Amino acid sequence: MLVFAKIKSVLQRIQSLKKGASIGFVPTMGALHKGHLSLIEQAKKENDIVIVSIFVNPTQFDKKEDLINYPKTIDSDLSLLKSVYCDIVFTPTAEEIYSNNITSQLFNFDGLEYQMEGKFRDGHFDGVGTIVKRLFEIVTPTKSYFGEKDFQQLQIIRKMAEKHQIPTKIIGCEIYREDDGLAMSSRNSRLTKEHRAIAPFIYKTLKKAKNEFGTKNAQEVIYWVENEFKKQPLLALEYFEIADEDTLQPIKNKDSKQKYRAFIAVFADKIRLIDNISL
Ligand code: AMP
Repeated sequence: MLVFAKIKSVLQRIQSLKKGASIGFVPTMGALHKGHLSLIEQAKKENDIVIVSIFVNPTQFDKKEDLINYPKTIDSDLSLLKSVYCDIVFTPTAEEIYSNNITSQLFNFDGLEYQMEGKFRDGHFDGVGTIVKRLFEIVTPTKSYFGEKDFQQLQIIRKMAEKHQIPTKIIGCEIYREDDGLAMSSRNSRLTKEHRAIAPFIYKTLKKAKNEFGTKNAQEVIYWVENEFKKQPLLALEYFEIADEDTLQPIKNKDSKQKYRAFIAVFADKIRLIDNISL
């Protein structure tokens, strides 16, 4: 496994690959867990070589505090990556990526950016678009792997790649969960014992909401979920929405031809957790 911090070095390595070799790319912010590894394993199966980037992207954090507190576990990340036979790891510094201008490019994602996370995390998706576009330009991946855990992000990246004609195939990968159903996240390690114990309530409620959606209309399901969280003092619901999978527009009337997904964001004390489920 080769580890590069410089753009020039990773570019040189990519250019030296056999002509026609396919590159699978998994961008991450480190603090790797089995969820990330599941993406890498899928990329391994479908490509000749796999490149993982580890970069905590400053421009996608709307709160400075979150950026500072983001877990950094580079040694264990590298040994996990070795254990799944990752070929190349790209670990640039912020200076390497942004020189001395740490700002986002502004994007138009056709409205996807104004829904859900976009309402609560100012400038977040411009930051994501900026870094992912830059990484795509460097890595030139054949296929790029993103988790459905961040479903809105996945759809936004699809839109960005399409609009900017970036020739990589975007692959969405299923959410990897703990045995108790909690979606794996680098943030889970920051939960208190008490909050960790109650956190599986989020996915349990999503599964019940899916069931309720079979017989009730969307507004009734939304009220039901809001009410469930009122009974749960350790978890504060930020939003629960049912939206069209492609446009991410909130559902108006159920249409059997459309695909819907329920999306949730919850605070467990100061830790913000997100999850979603296909309906
Ligand atoms: P992050 O390091 O949190 O930016 O995540 C890097 C990639 O891993 C993103 O595409 C995430 O959606 C994906 N990811 C994170 N957690 C999970 C999970 N539990 N299951 C599947 N993919 C995940």
